[in-house]
Amino acid sequence: MALRVGVIGGGQLARMMVPAAVELGIDIRVLAEGPGMSAAIAATAEGDYHDAETVLAFARDVDVVTFDHEHVPQDVLRRLEEAGVAVRPGPAPLAVAQDKIVMRRRLSDLGIAVPDWAAVHDAEELGRFLADHGGRAVVKTPRGGYDGKGVRVVSDPADVADWFVAVAEAAGDQALLVEELVPFTRELAQSVARRPSGEVVAWPLVETVQRDGVCAEVLAPAPDSAGRLADVAEETAVRIATELGVTGVLAVELFQTADDRLLVNELAMRPHNTGHWTIDGATTSQFEQHLRAVLDLPLGATGAHAPAAVMINVLGGPGDGDLAARYPAALAAFPEAKYHFYGKEPRPGRKIGHVTVLGDDLEDVVYRARSAAAHFDD
Ligand code: ADP
Repeated sequence: MALRVGVIGGGQLARMMVPAAVELGIDIRVLAEGPGMSAAIAATAEGDYHDAETVLAFARDVDVVTFDHEHVPQDVLRRLEEAGVAVRPGPAPLAVAQDKIVMRRRLSDLGIAVPDWAAVHDAEELGRFLADHGGRAVVKTPRGGYDGKGVRVVSDPADVADWFVAVAEAAGDQALLVEELVPFTRELAQSVARRPSGEVVAWPLVETVQRDGVCAEVLAPAPDSAGRLADVAEETAVRIATELGVTGVLAVELFQTADDRLLVNELAMRPHNTGHWTIDGATTSQFEQHLRAVLDLPLGATGAHAPAAVMINVLGGPGDGDLAARYPAALAAFPEAKYHFYGKEPRPGRKIGHVTVLGDDLEDVVYRARSAAAHFDD
């Protein structure tokens, strides 16, 4: 009988696991939040992942449960484990990815370099942090943020007065995360995959370019990173995966500083936007690897097919969003470009697809990838 993987969440990450599952002969099932989701092609169920009964019913017929996102509540994850379901990654590592304060605390305890940070409960505590850090800092809501939503650069506690109101009104001991505004020279990302039996593999370190808090471009491998920088990034990600007991793909977002230190910004315990280039650019894509890892199968080779791969995100714009009308011109202009669209309604700023181009010369590959993606700009 085929191995059966259940994915909770019907976004584009679940969707991109589908071709890999088909190739490996894995029976993939998706619990989508509702109709019309990106992974509707594989959705066998629709329902609310906050509801333990819904998730338990979905999990009954699979060998392992994994995720399209990190938002499944801890009590639901624990219920699954109590019912004997293999949950990968498990509740303990996911707790670290679900809350940025928990993450900062855990990484600091492990002695892993992170931006200087504090948990602040009110304007006075934030004021003290600002005074100690040159008057400017980055404030983040610990939970539920993505694509820069929930991240603000502040110079006055009043800049996040609305967030403090929410903190004060919330149940339990809530706080905001504040951290130093890191004067990074660039952003990098290191992806690894780990299986329950302990095997860990790493892909090449990549450079990521963010625009308005959203990943815009990924260069693989990161230019000028061979040697110590790549080694430190890989060691850091392998150590985090191992210490936290992550199963599946772990993406570690990093800041590189002027003196070539690496600080960990974010962790994602699932395939990640910064690893999309691996679909076309590496022997084993992050989606195939995630399935292998959560099923505790031997992991695939991670080498790159070409000296340079560039991935550009396609975002929705204010136009009519008629993507199909663009296909003839785009596909004719760059027959070597690999297009991936997510079947999503193209709202402004929303990630609706990506383009990857491979080649020998980075500058040329960047030019071709940007030009190919520009066919879909509104
Ligand atoms: P999200 O979870 O919404 O993706 P991140 O914490 O990854 O939020 O932050 C989004 C972007 O904001 C980062 O990629 C980086 O460009 C910028 N940023 C985040 N934290 C800092 C920081 N401490 N110093 C400087 N820039 C930051």
